[in-house]
Amino acid sequence: MNIDIIGAGIGGLSLAVALEQKGFKVKLYEQAEELRPVGAGIILANNAMQVYEKLGLREVIEGSGNHISSMNITKADLSPISAIDLSHFENKYGVKNIAIHRGALQQILVDSLENTEIKLNHRLQKLEKNQNGYALTFQNKPVIQSSVIIGADGIHSKVREQIFPNNSIRDAKQVCWRGVTDFHLPAQYRHELNEAWGKEDRFGFVEIAEGKVYWYALKSFNTSPDEHPVQHIEKYFEKYHPVIQSIISATDIKKIYTATMSDLKPTNEWFADGLCLIGDAAHAMTPNMGQGACQSIEDAYVLSECLNNYELNEAFQNFHKLRSPKAHQIVKTSWTLGKVAHVANPMLIGLRNQMMKWTPNALSRLQSEKIFKINKV
Ligand SMILES: Cc1cc2nc3c(=O)[nH]c(=O)nc-3n(C[C@H](O)[C@H](O)[C@H](O)COP(=O)(O)OP(=O)(O)OC[C@H]3O[C@@H](n4cnc5c(N)ncnc54)[C@H](O)[C@@H]3O)c2cc1C
Repeated sequence: MNIDIIGAGIGGLSLAVALEQKGFKVKLYEQAEELRPVGAGIILANNAMQVYEKLGLREVIEGSGNHISSMNITKADLSPISAIDLSHFENKYGVKNIAIHRGALQQILVDSLENTEIKLNHRLQKLEKNQNGYALTFQNKPVIQSSVIIGADGIHSKVREQIFPNNSIRDAKQVCWRGVTDFHLPAQYRHELNEAWGKEDRFGFVEIAEGKVYWYALKSFNTSPDEHPVQHIEKYFEKYHPVIQSIISATDIKKIYTATMSDLKPTNEWFADGLCLIGDAAHAMTPNMGQGACQSIEDAYVLSECLNNYELNEAFQNFHKLRSPKAHQIVKTSWTLGKVAHVANPMLIGLRNQMMKWTPNALSRLQSEKIFKINKV
């Protein structure tokens, strides 16, 4: 079976690796002229690393990233609110949680493809159903006929827009800055993700390699993200812990990546005849649980297994049945968590922090268990 994947992000590349290993013939179509890495890091949680273990990539990813043993929510001064100890899950599943540069992960995925052609500079513009499948029109390119299409083209998916035009993207009204900088964290923070919550803003940081720190920061806005220009970022976080202030001032402002946060309202329109969506194209989520890419990696594994085990359209149906409950749950929880994190009222902030402190460890573990457990196909 020939499979055409639109989009060579983490989801599309991971799917190509999984399908190629099962003997499918795959082509990837990517709009970018080159696969440039975004200047940011990513946390590959236990669920994603279980998939990469199955794909034989665990060791190389571990070797290029940094092992994270705890994920902490703190106050702006880095005093603890809550923490998830990840060692329980490391022991249970035999894989670690890894923080890594996105560029390093992308290179590992590209390097592990042997027969898959990546067609760069291919921006999909139109997709039309015909007797033999789909006619794909790319910008400035001849039309290509395809019998099986996977839309892995992100939150603003052209594939989804053409086949399922009634889906809605929700604006979270939060602006996000991301950066990677040369910085030596104090030893106590080297194997932790710390996310500090203030008043309508927060700041997360993690080491991704020796002397390299990835950080992200978010701030609520009312009408436009332009209310908070990046030039004043040091001011927004001046009440935060000195380590956070030092990380910001160690970053070249020209290399800070700005985006606004949004998600896709949960939808069950994931597949049609000979066509299926994965990753952000199917279930884009706000990044508050650090699960968007992990979920697209789970999709890649489950869809490759389904395509291996079932006839084409039955595979898509089973894929949706297996993956949508968990993906939608995370979309919803991430959305709520983003609101809780950005509470403005000082009394509510105190109450929220106290309630999070009181949440029993067993409950946090149960919630994490639901996220880290991957589907059996
Ligand atoms: C601030 C922030 C922090 C995050 N942190 C984490 C984290 O720590 N852990 C985690 O798991 N997730 C995280 N995420 C989420 C994660 O980045 C996304 O969920 C993930 O990248 C989705 O992968 P994808 O392959 O589905 O889509 P994308 O990464 O969006 O890839 C889509 C690809 O399709 C291409 N494309 C788009 N349109 C077309 C077209 N018309 N024709 C051809 N190609 C096209 C794009 O160029 C791109 O290469 C974070 C997100 C944000 C915003």
